Amino acid sequence: MAGLEDLYKEIIMDHYRNPRNQGSLEAPPALHALGINPSCGDEITLYVAVDAHDVITDVAIDGRGCSVSQSAASMMSEAIKGKTTAEARELSDAYKGMLAITDAGDKPDLAMGDLVALRGVSKFPARIKCATLGFNTLLQALTESGSTTTTE
Ligand code: ZN
Repeated sequence: MAGLEDLYKEIIMDHYRNPRNQGSLEAPPALHALGINPSCGDEITLYVAVDAHDVITDVAIDGRGCSVSQSAASMMSEAIKGKTTAEARELSDAYKGMLAITDAGDKPDLAMGDLVALRGVSKFPARIKCATLGFNTLLQALTESGSTTTTE
């Protein structure tokens, strides 16, 4: 198990040091939202381009904060690209479900991609807000583009 935890740690640090899909997208047509996690000082501005078939065609993130918040947003950006908004919402539910289980055993959900590396955050309730900031900001962008969400 130590080997797997080390691998997860490496994946998290890789996304933190080399965040994927950094930058911004022009609005319109892209949707955007600002997500803030005041308890840790994390901030993410998320941009998503959604086409006429409700498919997320592009994602961009401008963020600052701790390794958990920034790596989770980076992993999310890779995971949702090419998915429909409904599929992205399902992934958000599955991901939050994963973080709610403190003893999931050794059954990683491979559909989750690199996000599975954040499983261990379930043991640190104070960091769950960091881990969910990206998805909360995504849901906010899809619901009310241009608005701000604060993770309480
Ligand atoms: Zn944080």
